[in-house]
Amino acid sequence: MNFEDYIANVPNFPIEGIQFKDITTLIIDKDAFKAAIDELAAFGKKLGANVVMGPDARGFIFGCPVAYAMGVGFVPVRKPGKLPRETIKESYSLEYGKNELEINKDAFKKGDKVLIVDDLMATGGTVVASIQLAEKLGAEVVGVATVIELTELEGAKKLNNIPFYSLVKYNI
Ligand code: AMP
Repeated sequence: MNFEDYIANVPNFPIEGIQFKDITTLIIDKDAFKAAIDELAAFGKKLGANVVMGPDARGFIFGCPVAYAMGVGFVPVRKPGKLPRETIKESYSLEYGKNELEINKDAFKKGDKVLIVDDLMATGGTVVASIQLAEKLGAEVVGVATVIELTELEGAKKLNNIPFYSLVKYNI
């Protein structure tokens, strides 16, 4: 499947100079959506992940069905103030703007093998913050999988040796 055919490029959104990759055109197509989830889940299974973690909010769109397909649970990485119980927090920079992410303090058991799933890897800030959150709780991130990778921003280089897989690569 050529996933690029299902992704809409929107120039200058949400600010001038950003080429926004819109995945709503992919997830509305049942075959493209299923194929994307199956590929990401196969990567996670191969790595032996026993839990999936996904960042707010497009990481939920892909992460939850990937977890379901793998037969494992899902940990939401949320924007601040959304989780009602005790959390841990990490700050990070986006391709545009800054943010903080939180997870439940009891999200992982020591030794959990985590697959991080998101829609898009840009600078890698979101994924690195998610890795730090998981590691603080004693989990091991065994893989990172995204639908889209913006290769020029070199986010994948920030993952050190953690295996990374993306379905579509753009050099813009
Ligand atoms: P980063 O932390 O820089 O790797 O940014 C990744 C996050 O920001 C992902 O969760 C995306 O949803 C969002 N994002 C960053 N750049 C874009 C873009 N050009 N198009 C769509 N989403 C983006």
